[in-house]
Amino acid sequence: MLALPPGTKATAHGWIKTRRDSKGVHFIQINDGSSFPDLQIVLEAGKTVEETLAKATTGAAVRVSGEMVESPGKGQAVELRAETLEVIGASPPETYPLQKKRHNLETLREFGHFRPRSNTFGAVFRVRNALAYAIHKFFQERGFLYVHAPILTTSDAEGAGAMFQVTTLDVANPPRSPENGGRIDYTKDFFSKPAYLTVSGQLEAEIFALAFTNVYTFGPTFRAENSNTPRHLAEFWMIEPEMAFCDLEGNQQLAEEFLKYLISYVMEHCRPDLEFFNQRYEPSLLATLENVAGSEFARLPYTQAVEILEKSGRQWEFPVSWGSDLQSEHERYLTEEIFKRPVIVTDYPARIKAFYMRSNDDGKTVRAMDVLAPGIGEIIGGSQREERLDVLLEKLREHRLPEENYWWYLDLRRFGGVPHSGFGLGFERMMMYVTGMKNIRDVIPFPRTPGHAEF
Ligand code: ATP
Ligand code: MN
Repeated sequence: MLALPPGTKATAHGWIKTRRDSKGVHFIQINDGSSFPDLQIVLEAGKTVEETLAKATTGAAVRVSGEMVESPGKGQAVELRAETLEVIGASPPETYPLQKKRHNLETLREFGHFRPRSNTFGAVFRVRNALAYAIHKFFQERGFLYVHAPILTTSDAEGAGAMFQVTTLDVANPPRSPENGGRIDYTKDFFSKPAYLTVSGQLEAEIFALAFTNVYTFGPTFRAENSNTPRHLAEFWMIEPEMAFCDLEGNQQLAEEFLKYLISYVMEHCRPDLEFFNQRYEPSLLATLENVAGSEFARLPYTQAVEILEKSGRQWEFPVSWGSDLQSEHERYLTEEIFKRPVIVTDYPARIKAFYMRSNDDGKTVRAMDVLAPGIGEIIGGSQREERLDVLLEKLREHRLPEENYWWYLDLRRFGGVPHSGFGLGFERMMMYVTGMKNIRDVIPFPRTPGHAEF
């Protein structure tokens, strides 16, 4: 909001947050979304006709002209002493769903069309905007090429999760092929074969890394996983850098630098919003962010992580032994209680990781890395990719994946292949981390989850 020096003539517009009438004067808080603090309007009684004043209620859109003056009240340095007040869009108080009493986050979710006007969501979406900008800034400053991975895809190349199918066939009465046991005839579908919404842009990013060296994607991804958790959305955004001529060491370095950069950026540019989150939602937020931005990440192989967990003497909900995937409780124990800072776990068992991760010489583990952060667990997953054609072919067989579906992926190894690495960061997971918000539905403008796709 306007923060002009006292004495300046100014016109402001925005939506009324609250209004307080005392004798001879009206105090009206307005906000146009540009910053956390509201602008306080001071309007002398009698300046505005009664009719207009009656419409100046919470939620109404107004335009105010007057002069900035030093504010004697607490909470703001300057305020706008109004000469004129115009109600541009009234908001009848009897029916406006967000009258000034505080609403809980669940209730606000039902009002996706009004929640951006609340203090909490004003702060959330300003941080989201800043974080998106910082992501591009980080990569652009380092010469990474921004690649737009396709959203529609016909290859379930990664097998990262359940996919949403996209079709123009009549779902009530799809064409069937008798010679194929009556199965649906996808040659009649839009793309002449089954198509889906993408679950990851990684494999496409690999194509571009093998031409532009350092690239990143930043776009929407979709997973039809029926997991109703506070950490999963059906539609979310992912950032996937991919680097040619780069091994797992360089990959870890980039991930660490990237996370610290993003945290420092929002701490510098969204201070009032973060202070609000710290005060209202997560009292350790600022301390945690400062700690992460300033600490060196711990690094250790999976095998060693499992030894620590086995020796912990803890009762785990999910028992842990070599070969099993780390669960959230294990990840948080490592990062919050053992290391008290972010941890990069590397070299996971091949059996629990994707086919494209580079095999280690031990024949049991792959060059995978997960970045675990205090308060959240896994935030980044990545790996060095398998660049050796013969090994990759062998791995496709082990994972029972048909070679012919990966012809182009294999070509990248046949012609000009090089060691390359990359990782994926879920944008909303990062948003949860920097805001301290506990439910992923509250850090994306319009959450899509099982049973919900409103607005
Ligand atoms: P999780 O175990 O939490 O389901 P994942 O192992 O399926 O994650 P990846 O396939 O490695 O995740 O995806 C890369 C990143 O995308 C994850 O580290 C996470 O930050 C984010 N992510 C994955 N699934 C979701 C989802 N359903 N909603 C929001 N973010 C997600
Ligand atoms: Mn998942």
